[in-house]
Amino acid sequence: MLAAMGALGLVPSSQARTFTAPQPGDFTLTGRSPKRVVILGAGIAGLAVAYELLKAGYDVTILEAAKKVGGRNLTIRGGDEITEIGGVTQRAAFRDGTYFNAGPARIAQWMITMDYCRELGVPLEIFVNSNADAYVHTSGKSIRLRTARADTQGYLSELLAKATNQGALDADLTAADKTDLLDLLREFGQLGEQLTYDGGERRADTGPIPSVSEVLGYRIPYALTWDLAHDQAMPMFQPVGGMDRIVDALVANVGRHRIRTGTPATKITDTGREVVVEYQNGAARADYCVATLPPHVLARVPSTLPPGIVSRLGQGFVLAGGKLGLEYGRRWWELDENIYGGTSETDLDIGRIWYPSHGFHERRGLLVGYYTVADPAAVYDALSPAARLDRALRAGEQVHGPRYRKDLLSAVSMSWAKRPHVEGMMNVGLQGVPQAHGRVYLAGDWMTGLVAWQAGAFESARKAVLSIHERALKEN
Ligand SMILES: Cc1cc2nc3c(=O)[nH]c(=O)nc-3n(C[C@H](O)[C@H](O)[C@H](O)COP(=O)(O)OP(=O)(O)OC[C@H]3O[C@@H](n4cnc5c(N)ncnc54)[C@H](O)[C@@H]3O)c2cc1C
Repeated sequence: MLAAMGALGLVPSSQARTFTAPQPGDFTLTGRSPKRVVILGAGIAGLAVAYELLKAGYDVTILEAAKKVGGRNLTIRGGDEITEIGGVTQRAAFRDGTYFNAGPARIAQWMITMDYCRELGVPLEIFVNSNADAYVHTSGKSIRLRTARADTQGYLSELLAKATNQGALDADLTAADKTDLLDLLREFGQLGEQLTYDGGERRADTGPIPSVSEVLGYRIPYALTWDLAHDQAMPMFQPVGGMDRIVDALVANVGRHRIRTGTPATKITDTGREVVVEYQNGAARADYCVATLPPHVLARVPSTLPPGIVSRLGQGFVLAGGKLGLEYGRRWWELDENIYGGTSETDLDIGRIWYPSHGFHERRGLLVGYYTVADPAAVYDALSPAARLDRALRAGEQVHGPRYRKDLLSAVSMSWAKRPHVEGMMNVGLQGVPQAHGRVYLAGDWMTGLVAWQAGAFESARKAVLSIHERALKEN
């Protein structure tokens, strides 16, 4: 759950930036020859392992179960087909230029994903993660975020000022502290002369100021604070043209000919001298194997990994996650509501509505109509795509009114629990699984403190690469 909270911005994260990639001269200068490595999975972790090892001339092959590369890094465009476990298929009818980041959508400035975008030449633009003019939707009301913040901070400040002046904090504060505190509260809550909150210029709404009871009753304090989290704070970034630009750049560098798609690994055998990975009608042999499959999927692949590791791989918490892309023929959120990017947090089962951070003032645009994790995601997963759409539109109408249904051109819903070969949005609680056993190495975001962030996948790839390279330089 911690990781899920992290993905939604509830826990801080950080990431080491020191990494020296294997160099072309590492083998030639020592008279050793580059090793063969078979990588299972062409998500960010698998592609990054290949990309880094190729810098030193390793002989790299990637086996990917799906027909498409990228794993959870998935950008859906017009004409794409999404078939769920169970066989339900949707075909995206998006017009030219419209794309839907159905998996990752944003990158924090401190994440090593930024370093890869720089190195790979992937252009970035600002991702408007938080927008003071988007809404907090709670108890049937849509309130502009800055109004909700101003009223909450205002009343909290008034109450604390009152408690201070009534002596409730005398045991904790000196007289000088109390003066400083009152000065702080005056500014923090925009209090008037009498240290009362009467509204202020931070509010977006000119209507009557709600009572303190109404404001305390908003009940989604998360909506007021989530964008303060280390991994959610502005500025955040997105690749221009879709998150899969990172995948495209990795694939271009690795070489498409080194990636076999539609080729699930069916057995992994470490003979002690090499690793043999079997797949339908064939086998790949290599000195080392890096398995980047989601751990709950890897646990089902027959292998020579010890039963202790295999059973541990199956013990994580796999969280469902879903997103809905809604393509509109008119950018009504900009034209009618003056919302340019950001998210409206709600107490409805859609979780939130995301407004696009690119294409401002163009004719068409794509909203994310829900972004759900865990239980609410399971509610939508259980429905057909048409029923998901209808339920989400009914919820969206509560936030934006009847215009939410008007001008809708097309929609695609993504259920990560039903995504073949991935089977979940994230797997949490598995940190501490050994990184390698024999010649088989493991990688994937789930092995790091950054589960459900591409930065975690990159970090795990770097660790696997360093361990393999250190060993390869010593062996024969
Ligand atoms: C809804 C959602 C929102 C997200 N938001 C963000 C975000 O805003 N920013 C961010 O940075 N990250 C975000 N993430 C997380 C990010 O997508 C992941 O951390 C990252 O893509 C994981 O990469 P990976 O290579 O570790 O795993 P995966 O991408 O899961 O790759 C595993 C690969 O293994 C393949 N595979 C499975 N079985 C086999 C087999 N038998 N043989 C061969 N291959 C196999 C799979 O097909 C898959 O391609 C989000 C994820 C989701 C789902």
